[in-house]
Amino acid sequence: MIPLPFCVSITHPKGLMNMNDGKMILDGNVVAASIRESVVGQVKQLVDRGITPTLATILVGDNPASETYVRMKGNACQRLGLRSVRVDLPSHTTTEQLIAEINKLNDDPQIHGILLQHPVPDHIDERAAFEAISIQKDVDGVTTLGFAQNAFGFADFPSCTPAAIMAILEYYNIPIESKHAVVIGRSPILGKPVSAMLLNKNATVTTCHSRTANLADIVRLGDIVVAAVGKPKFVQGSWIKPGAVVLDAGYNAGNVGDVDYEACSVNASAITPVPGGVGPVTIATLLKHTVDAADKFA
Ligand code: NAP
Repeated sequence: MIPLPFCVSITHPKGLMNMNDGKMILDGNVVAASIRESVVGQVKQLVDRGITPTLATILVGDNPASETYVRMKGNACQRLGLRSVRVDLPSHTTTEQLIAEINKLNDDPQIHGILLQHPVPDHIDERAAFEAISIQKDVDGVTTLGFAQNAFGFADFPSCTPAAIMAILEYYNIPIESKHAVVIGRSPILGKPVSAMLLNKNATVTTCHSRTANLADIVRLGDIVVAAVGKPKFVQGSWIKPGAVVLDAGYNAGNVGDVDYEACSVNASAITPVPGGVGPVTIATLLKHTVDAADKFA
């Protein structure tokens, strides 16, 4: 037990290795490596059975950021011995055409996970496309059923970024129960599911959004603060309670998170950097879910 004069005391020895001026840097690359390591044997066993876990990623249009994310995910698959299949569709693809492509992947026994890269072009009904993904292949928890299962606490595949945030907290042995978690953002793929996951771990959760009044005052109550806003350096240092743990899910142009890292580091007892925080753990979680999907359903 390391006595810290903070509201959240952190006991994991891995945390000590990352102490920097009394702050713990929550190193996403280390957490991601441990997740990948945990599935190496599983991948080998599957390959020995003639099953290569395979992730299909669908990219609609030519958004350069999405193109980068899809390429990173494909490369990460290959490094771990998974197969990745890319489905590139033109930006004028209709909702019906996209759903038809998803259905082909649903019916293909060689595909174990399907990831539709968000966002899709405005004219596409993204919700309808997400809903078309078979629950057994919904490795990013984007379907209504996947979301609901996660809210109940028994999802096979919760959304990857929320699951990554929880994995970081778990890896560094950061207490959640009875803590006040403040989540900024309520998107169906991030803010809402991570709020549910923190609640399921017995945190008291406040979920904030663009109509929240007195946001800074609410964030100041947080023992755990999750930023999922989509605005660079949005969370200010003065909003962070001394000793709070700060998790920055944001990823904005120029490798900048949703948290003003330098300013928030002053009061935080532990904080994720960007890059090298939630991002790599999200990708590792996606790989793990794909391997689990192959193991469970192939
Ligand atoms: P999103 O769908 O745009 O949702 C943003 C949320 O922030 C919304 O709920 C919005 O509230 C809220 N918000 C916007 N302005 C606000 C304000 N002034 N005060 C309080 N809340 C405000 O974004 P997302 O998909 O959840 O992504 C959030 C961030 O995470 C982005 O930076 C994205 O790049 C990043 N991300 C990272 C990963 C990863 O692997 N690291 C994966 C996915 C996303 P309303 O609901 O009221 O509009």
